[in-house]
Amino acid sequence: MLAAARPLSAETVPIGRAGGRVSAEDARARVDLPPFPSSAMDGFAVRAVDLPATLPIVGESAAGRPFDGRLEPGSTAAISTGAVVPEGADCVVPIERVVVMDNSVEFSIEVDPGTNVRPRGGDIAAGEVAVPPGVRLTPARIAAAAAVGIAELQCRRRPRVAVLATGSELVAPGDGLRDGQIYESNTVMLAAALAEAGAEVEAQAPSADDEVALREVLERGLAADVLVTSGGVSVGEHDLVRAVERELGVEEAFWRVSMKPGKPISFGTRGETLVFGLPGNPVSALVGCELFVKPALRALQGLADPAPRFEPGRLSVGLRRDAERDEFVRARTQVDGDAVILEPVMGQESHMIVRSSVADALVHVPRGNGELAEGAIVRWLPLGA
Ligand code: AMP
Ligand code: MG
Repeated sequence: MLAAARPLSAETVPIGRAGGRVSAEDARARVDLPPFPSSAMDGFAVRAVDLPATLPIVGESAAGRPFDGRLEPGSTAAISTGAVVPEGADCVVPIERVVVMDNSVEFSIEVDPGTNVRPRGGDIAAGEVAVPPGVRLTPARIAAAAAVGIAELQCRRRPRVAVLATGSELVAPGDGLRDGQIYESNTVMLAAALAEAGAEVEAQAPSADDEVALREVLERGLAADVLVTSGGVSVGEHDLVRAVERELGVEEAFWRVSMKPGKPISFGTRGETLVFGLPGNPVSALVGCELFVKPALRALQGLADPAPRFEPGRLSVGLRRDAERDEFVRARTQVDGDAVILEPVMGQESHMIVRSSVADALVHVPRGNGELAEGAIVRWLPLGA
């Protein structure tokens, strides 16, 4: 699946709008940072060799208004945090460490050269890489770019993702329910999850389990970079999604994965379009989205490490393993000292979205015999982090 998810093209994005995007270039510093030796403190700029002494104040270096000229030996200049350390000075003594008199300052201490001076280029030198390609542009990454004078960044295009729920029983929340109908919750869930993962989501109106209707909406969805459907991929008589997709030219790469929940998941491609068929049960759709669709979106955006990032934690209770399928158990985390404790939520059936909604972790219980004991170390994936 990841092999089919090749990075999308790049586009230029102003840094003010690049938050959450993925970089696509080596963005290099336009300047040294800091661009000049600057003061880390409010205080007085001096030569270290002159101390201790009482020295005349010959001027000031304020932020944005440097000291005019060179600081002569045996003199000092008032200086503020972030201001240029004048040529001739090699250290700054904080105001709290001196006695200021009318036109002079008494320094009773000795300091080393360089004290409280931020050297030019100490953070990064001009020409070095400030933001590498293939990383998510976090607030700090954007600030790093801005701080070295970069106004726009090459970013991967956001994947356009069509989301389509299928099922003749589905009704939009807000409408009345007739016998046999249920409220449709997968579209909003998937749209929210995928938008968070960087997608531009096109939520379609749900489709009935009807070949003619499905053909039309699936064809429309296949125009996107990614088509994500829910429902209709299991073995029932009304599960038509895969058959209609095959007619429309989708080449299926796999159907059914030995996992629980989410077993009937399907994946295929048509041209460059990735096609995911998630099961209809809301918890199955959520798990399939976390484990399959979101990693694919990260790969499309060019992230260097698109796979789900599991973390270690400890089970609060013993869990029986499924002999045939890897299980993904919804749990709540709690920090206990230096360990994360994972407590499975009540109600692990795949239709129980309300019970699952309190979980912040998906715990991987590998298939096997017997039980994972209380306290066992397992891998878990943050949900909605
Ligand atoms: P399916 O995968 O189509 O067999 O559906 C499995 C179960 O999930 C059935 O109980 C469906 O009613 C339910 N379901 C399917 N799609 C949705 C949806 N969009 N929202 C809520 N429940 C759904
Ligand atoms: Mg169905």
